[in-house]
Amino acid sequence: MITLDKFYIDGGWVAPASDATMPILSPATNQRVGTLSMGNEADVDAAVQAAKRAFETFSMTSKDERLALLRRLAEVTRARMDDLAHAMTTEMGAPATMSREVQADAGIGHLEAFIDALEALDEEETLPNGDILSREPIGVCGLITPWNWPINQIALKVVPALAAGATCVLKPSEHTPLSAQVYAEIVHEAGYPAGVFNLVQGDGPTVGAALSRHPDVAMMSFTGSTRGGSAVSRDAADDFKRVTLELGGKSPNLIFADADLDKRVAEGVDACFFNTGQSCDAPTRMLVERSVYSRVLELAEAAAKATVVGDPEQEGDHIGPLFDEIQYDRVQAMIDKGIDEGARLLSGGPGRPAGLPEALQAGWFVRPTIFCDVTPEMVIWREEIFGPVLVITPFDTEEEAITLANDTDYGLAAYIQTGSEDRARRVARRLRAGALHINGRDADYGSPFGGFKHSGNGREGGVYGLEDYMEIKVRPPFAA
Ligand code: NDP
Repeated sequence: MITLDKFYIDGGWVAPASDATMPILSPATNQRVGTLSMGNEADVDAAVQAAKRAFETFSMTSKDERLALLRRLAEVTRARMDDLAHAMTTEMGAPATMSREVQADAGIGHLEAFIDALEALDEEETLPNGDILSREPIGVCGLITPWNWPINQIALKVVPALAAGATCVLKPSEHTPLSAQVYAEIVHEAGYPAGVFNLVQGDGPTVGAALSRHPDVAMMSFTGSTRGGSAVSRDAADDFKRVTLELGGKSPNLIFADADLDKRVAEGVDACFFNTGQSCDAPTRMLVERSVYSRVLELAEAAAKATVVGDPEQEGDHIGPLFDEIQYDRVQAMIDKGIDEGARLLSGGPGRPAGLPEALQAGWFVRPTIFCDVTPEMVIWREEIFGPVLVITPFDTEEEAITLANDTDYGLAAYIQTGSEDRARRVARRLRAGALHINGRDADYGSPFGGFKHSGNGREGGVYGLEDYMEIKVRPPFAA
């Protein structure tokens, strides 16, 4: 049984202020695997005060000193990859191979891209008018991360704060505390000065809100639900903190008749189901040119039926369970909603998949599900489901495809499948989303990630993600 009963504050492991705890449950078996101590306002205050003290000296370090620390962080992260991967498999059910090769790999991929960004960053430059602009760390940063991509999100927030010379307090999701604990051990071993990085475990309404409201926090970076994002924005408003938000998505995948259908349709289904559908930028709405609609439905159904759901502890390319009961109930309710609304069920449906081994029957496994003939008024077309559920609809013209794609409150990602480069460029220009994926190609580590509209503000990753953690100062050239 795992016991997480210490927080990482001011360079050491300290006992929480309260004795509140919650169980850590395996999503694959619904069995208890450990106990987590929950923080409160006093823990947040201790962590923020440590970060505030550390800022005095860490903000004055040179770029070379910070690069050396980041390189050491990369070495230790590489040495602990298996521990990070195993933690995520245990806490949120990411299957072993994917957990190591994608979830944990993000911890090193983003870090290397931030090292490149910091190397290239001019901390001081002369403006065309002769004034001098400098970039300086913003102060104490509050970082709130979700359960779906635990280390990806931690790296996208903690690393740029450290690279900029800022200090931080991390509050990971209460549902994924194990990987955050390993990450704190990594930062400690990398040799960061006391107080530069702090970890307080606990829930959003208590620890997250205390962080967002704390007057000594200069910036909040949040990834999660739109509800959580607006709560953080409101809590941070009184003292005008900078707030960056990475929220949800309902990303369109436009399949034109001239695309390589055999390849692109299966890829689109797999991308929707990847991480058991728990990705904010998943292509969850497939829009298909009517002349190839029936062929695409055949291909999509075959891809869904070929998707294996199984034990996250096993190696392989199967998908695992949803992260817990709350998400299982949400996804089941949305599948029921789709049926009630009259969408045509092409594959999957309510309940658990057949044939799960006995030990996994109480786990939060769902059937990979596809609805077709979905219309824009339906809830399953409009709302984020965050499970392996794809909705498909036909379109007649390119113009209609663009209108349908943009008919969403979100704007995180958009996917285009076409054999025509002209069309890809033309359509990409008109889609209101932060990241375009074209014919199976995605942006790499170091590119800015973030969305339009209700998908949030600010960008994470690479140089744009680094600059979010910096203030800009100007001064005239010196004259005696
Ligand atoms: P939340 O927004 O509740 O969780 C994300 C993080 O925010 C967690 O660390 C959570 O803490 C924290 N949090 C929650 N409320 C507050 C608050 N008032 N102040 C500060 N921090 C807060 O997401 P859910 O887990 O409820 O998921 C709901 C839906 O959100 C999903 O179904 C999905 O649609 C979307 N989502 C999107 C994500 C993305 O990547 N953009 C990630 C996760 C969810 P804790 O959970 O520990 O209480």
